[in-house]
Amino acid sequence: MEYRIGVISGDGIGPEIVREAKKVLDKVATVYGHQFHYEEILMGGVSIDACGVPLTQEAIDSAKASDAVLMGSIGGDTTTSHWYQLPPNLRPEAGLLQIRKELNLFANVRPAYLYEELKGACPIKDELIGDGFDMVIMRELTGGLYFGARETKEIDGVMTAKDSLTYNENEIRRIAIKGFDIARKRRKKVTSVDKANVLDSSRLWRKVVEEVAKEYPDVSYEHMLVDNCAMQLVKDPCQFDVILTENMFGDILSDEASMVTGSIGMLSSASLNDTKFGLYEPSHGSAPDIAGKDVANPIATILSAAMMLRFSFDLDQEADAIETAVKTVLKDGYRTIDIYSEGTRQTSCSQMGDLICERIK
Ligand code: NAD
Repeated sequence: MEYRIGVISGDGIGPEIVREAKKVLDKVATVYGHQFHYEEILMGGVSIDACGVPLTQEAIDSAKASDAVLMGSIGGDTTTSHWYQLPPNLRPEAGLLQIRKELNLFANVRPAYLYEELKGACPIKDELIGDGFDMVIMRELTGGLYFGARETKEIDGVMTAKDSLTYNENEIRRIAIKGFDIARKRRKKVTSVDKANVLDSSRLWRKVVEEVAKEYPDVSYEHMLVDNCAMQLVKDPCQFDVILTENMFGDILSDEASMVTGSIGMLSSASLNDTKFGLYEPSHGSAPDIAGKDVANPIATILSAAMMLRFSFDLDQEADAIETAVKTVLKDGYRTIDIYSEGTRQTSCSQMGDLICERIK
């Protein structure tokens, strides 16, 4: 099969980790007889430097013309980079918010999986993690607080800031359906997270999730308050299969879930819309502190490429091959610096890409 992949290398370690993911995709193409055509798309700091804005119309059109987009990461050091002297709507992250909106990427899927070989990096006690955990956070991505009206102004001599949190039932329904669909392919359990004891938007969230749940009698579900969920993630992470939640809660909980795996450089993500299209990127940022040194862990980006094959191209066997190759490399003792421990073999970013390629069968 032939596919057109938009590639946003971005800033910091972005170009290094994307290069390794493309290497792995090219190996998959050779082994399984596909053709992947890459279209470079500028976004983030590199786009600001080249075009004056973090995302151009040309870049949006190019992303829309692709079958899927693979991304590295965008942004720089937020205290020293010149990009952060610009107004917020011209900073690198504004490009990311805009592309999510333009492509209607309302569903963010982030697996948090504890690799047997990396158990030592998990900050939770052994007796609590048992055989490990394997969950997915399904986060609403284009509504809620981050997209609501906001303003800062002086009222009666006092500076006052306001952000608004709005959800309509359609926005909740479509993300709930995605959450239950994914649960159906996994261990069939949804934990819907809200703050229904306080927020109207959460009470509507709960009502709509209950309606959707009726269509999935084979999937069990529960409601959990967000503060309790934050505690449960470190107390008993094994209880979760799919966590379904709104934008801001998902932002915070997914970072917490990724940290309890102990290895942010390993975690992939997908942002999906109503079609087969998706934007695939690692869960971590652009790591400006290690950029250009060939030491970054490319595995999160490589696993994001595997998600792209699975979700956008329906190439399950090829996605399995990448995931198995990653597990084998870890089993063989190879580690990038972020997951290195004594007794294992330290590799660079590019060596890790090569080692994974060698194991694609
Ligand atoms: P970060 O995730 O970039 O880095 C946090 C720490 O983890 C750093 O010590 C870094 O070296 C390390 N790290 C991250 N990814 C790694 C990898 N693959 N291999 C080895 N180590 C890795 O978070 P930050 O420092 O808060 O943010 C840096 C920049 O990234 C900021 O401009 C931020 O806005 C941006 N950011 C972008 C995205 C995105 O592109 N989607 C997401 C989060 C942050």
